[in-house]
Amino acid sequence: MAEDLMHNALSKSRVFRFAPSPNGLLHLGHALSAILNHDLAAACGGRFLLRIEDIDPARSRPEFEAAIYRDLAWLGLNWEKPVRRQSEHLGFYAAALERLKAMGLLYPGFLSRGEVKAQVQAHEAIGGVWPRDPDGAPLYPKQERGLDRDEALAWISEGRQHAWRLDMDKALALAPASLGWSEAGAGPEGETGVVSARPERWGDVILSRPDAPVSYHLAVVLDDAEQGVTDVVRGQDLFHATSVHRLLQSLLGLPAPAYRHHGLVPGPDGRKLSKSNQDTGIAAYREKGLSPTGLRALLAGYGFVFH
Ligand code: GLU
Repeated sequence: MAEDLMHNALSKSRVFRFAPSPNGLLHLGHALSAILNHDLAAACGGRFLLRIEDIDPARSRPEFEAAIYRDLAWLGLNWEKPVRRQSEHLGFYAAALERLKAMGLLYPGFLSRGEVKAQVQAHEAIGGVWPRDPDGAPLYPKQERGLDRDEALAWISEGRQHAWRLDMDKALALAPASLGWSEAGAGPEGETGVVSARPERWGDVILSRPDAPVSYHLAVVLDDAEQGVTDVVRGQDLFHATSVHRLLQSLLGLPAPAYRHHGLVPGPDGRKLSKSNQDTGIAAYREKGLSPTGLRALLAGYGFVFH
């Protein structure tokens, strides 16, 4: 009986996470995400996790990971330990990739960025319209979907560079037509409430590359499920990516968290903040003498409300 009650209490507890990539210093936008996750968890007696998304070895650096811990501690946030670091779970992601391959949903794409660009330019030069993803990048051509499997495997064993891509049409055929998510924040066009997923807008997304064994999209949905995350609170720049996340969750039989995408903190020049702009880094504000309370006030000044 006591155990049942305990189980119920635990299963009802909401789980939030802040999941930065250690490829630069955290800026005001990261502070906003981290604080929102932390405060929402605290307000409902939920859990707050920190996850280090260091899946891309070329871009992840230990000094940036150390800076994440330092900045979040300075903000006064407490997160559960141990912290999950994606680089320590490669076998877990590889197993999911194999499952998707066994379902016949992945194919190796051999075209280089330059080859894709040349195709797009040739098409546009004769007045054609090449479809683009929500970030404005041209979709990957579909020509390799039907490549002979043995031939493709022979090319791979010859060492030809390739990325494993999701055949979007096959994937969509397996997903429910009603695929969507619950949005407590808003998308860039004010999308809120029950939002329909539109993963087809991304085309044949990459799920694994030779230099990064698993893509952000796949690692993030696997980890959210593995860690029992119930609430994903993150910047609006990832709103459209949620369509791909919902598709992968559906294909892999993973639960759907509730999503809340928050507005982006404007940069000094009105543009998006970037990790390479040192001036808006949390550390820069700290060094200028701002207090954590002052930083919250700065964010509140942009209209962000804390709970
Ligand atoms: N690691 C991602 C980033 O730093 C965020 C992932 C997420 O919140 O889903 O942009």
